[in-house]
Amino acid sequence: TRSTRPQRLLRAVQKKAIKGDPQSVISTIDYFCRHSEWAMNVGDEKGAILDSVVCEVSPSTALELGTYCGYSTVRIARLLPPGTKLITLEFNPDYAAVARQIIEYSGLQDKICLVEGASGDLIPKMQELFGIKTFDFVFLDHWKDRYLPDTKLLEECQLLRKGSILLADNVICPGTPDYLEYVRNSPRYESKYFKSHLEYTKVEDGLEKSVFLG
Ligand code: SAM
Ligand code: MG
Repeated sequence: TRSTRPQRLLRAVQKKAIKGDPQSVISTIDYFCRHSEWAMNVGDEKGAILDSVVCEVSPSTALELGTYCGYSTVRIARLLPPGTKLITLEFNPDYAAVARQIIEYSGLQDKICLVEGASGDLIPKMQELFGIKTFDFVFLDHWKDRYLPDTKLLEECQLLRKGSILLADNVICPGTPDYLEYVRNSPRYESKYFKSHLEYTKVEDGLEKSVFLG
């Protein structure tokens, strides 16, 4: 049977990237996606914004919703302070299997905990599974209709504290109108848009950074 795009992306990494070098893994994936096959990674352009937010927050606890091949996972984890683990959730077992290999290849496996399952089932278990009280940083990049319900779920489960940062990808393309409406108008958030482009294209897209005010 024919290989899948994630498998081809993994093969490019194994062939071209330097083992144990996260930056080389990131660059190899970006090159593959610009020159061979587009894929739904946050990409290099929005990735630079993601990097700067992660560095500014310097989180002790971090959550990613939507791992796919692990591109943004590696991108975030490489910038985390020593001792911080990034928990990343992925419900597609084929994507999770590829992501595990890309994470291993980058050498960042000790900084990352990939959990296979649906965000709606796993968010309520974060305390029980990992002893998490609250997240300092959450990257939302799973299916776009889940941003709002999962944000409300994070609030209900008291996983956000005053000052927790939510960073949401693809708020323009494909777009997350109900989520944007919520974080921009709720008195519980202070929200800011970072204009950029959809990964590997010139189409407008951006990230929305929202501070939870408690
Ligand atoms: N963050 C990745 C990156 O930038 O490299 C890209 C993630 S991709 C846009 C979205 C991923 O979220 C897909 O792999 C999909 O299977 C996963 N996903 C979608 N809804 C989910 C949910 N409710 N729970 C867990 N994973 C989900
Ligand atoms: Mg995205």
